[in-house]
Amino acid sequence: MIRDPRKAAVVAIGDELLEGRYADTNSGLIARRLADLGIEVVEFRVLGDDRARLAATFWELCEKYPMVVATGGLGPTLDDVTREAAADAAGVKLVRDEGAANELREWFARRKRDFPASNLRQAEFPDGAQVMRNQNGTAPGFRVWIGGGVLAVLPGPPREAVDMLERELVPWLSATCGHGECFARANFYLVGLAESTFADRAGDWMARGANPRMGVTAHQGTLRVSLRARAATQAGAEALVAARAAEFRERFARELFSETEPQLAFALGRELVHLGVTITTAESCTGGMVAELLTEVPGISAVFREGFVTYSNDAKRARLDVGAELLERHGAVSREVAAAMAAGAARATGARIAIAVSGVAGPDGGTAEKPVGLVCFGLSVDGVVTSHEGRFPPVDRHTVRLFAAHAALELVWRALPH
Ligand code: ATP
Repeated sequence: MIRDPRKAAVVAIGDELLEGRYADTNSGLIARRLADLGIEVVEFRVLGDDRARLAATFWELCEKYPMVVATGGLGPTLDDVTREAAADAAGVKLVRDEGAANELREWFARRKRDFPASNLRQAEFPDGAQVMRNQNGTAPGFRVWIGGGVLAVLPGPPREAVDMLERELVPWLSATCGHGECFARANFYLVGLAESTFADRAGDWMARGANPRMGVTAHQGTLRVSLRARAATQAGAEALVAARAAEFRERFARELFSETEPQLAFALGRELVHLGVTITTAESCTGGMVAELLTEVPGISAVFREGFVTYSNDAKRARLDVGAELLERHGAVSREVAAAMAAGAARATGARIAIAVSGVAGPDGGTAEKPVGLVCFGLSVDGVVTSHEGRFPPVDRHTVRLFAAHAALELVWRALPH
């Protein structure tokens, strides 16, 4: 059978899955991660803890695909039969791995618990299998060749499965280049671009057959761009990615905020801490969302001074010293008032950067002149105050506020030296 080296199947195992007691979330997580590596999952299976059926399925799938990933059925009790089924499919016996047995004993000893003899089953693997360590639970996983394909088995609990996937399977997959093809990848996180604008500017980089292949997904005002290259050698794949990445960084220099951190707030927060630049927020329509996003960042207390939620005009006057006459003349949602809010917050706290937000989040309150989705921003950087305006699609109140909060972060991001 001709097998496409970039395709895989995922198997979710457990009687309780078939009984509808919980839903299979592992398979989707695995498929997404494999996609990052350029491996497309083309089949999901859900099976009970049935040794014969599992063995037949492992065999069938390993005939069709070079890679099969399964989760579940690695528990210590006799109703967990994934190990046996994998051994059956590979045509080998189960053998005990003493290293894994010792790790299990230590796991129990560390928790001052007796070591139940039944747990030794978890140290048995199909002969020739490579053990994958479990740092979050007792059940180790393993990889075993079944015919021309590799079956990798991970534990059922999602946290354990994901961790083992990341620590054990992904590095192995990246290093081994299954069946003559190697993959390399890179990610880029951009802000301030609509998906369609991005596509226009990326041009033929996004063509379907392109190598590296480029994919883009939008998330709360940011874009995640992935590059995946394939070549006969690992060095070749990496060279393809490196060349495109260099061009990419140049073309999107203004919008690129990270190659490792998907969340703008985290990238920005770390940069503020790194630069030692103090910041304060003055928010109306976002009601503290900007402060919330920034204070998620560990260590931000070194630079985050204070967040004002000045919702009423009175609060804007009393806390931020926004002039009554300014409010009267321009209204609370205006560039003038947003600028005054930023200036006032900077004065009150002494922070080097102050970011202010005031807008119409809807669903009511919009006018022809100031429609729902209009958001004004004030930015004070070392005493220099500027104002900005965003017009976001009036999808719903929450979405407008999220857009506004991320746009505020983006303004601060642009104000920093990069
Ligand atoms: P353990 O030694 O922890 O029992 P195991 O590999 O035998 O590991 P299972 O008994 O199959 O794992 O599943 C343990 C729990 O993990 C299930 O009760 C369920 O909550 C969760 N789980 C298992 N498989 C999946 C799945 N495909 N998607 C989501 N959750 C799952």
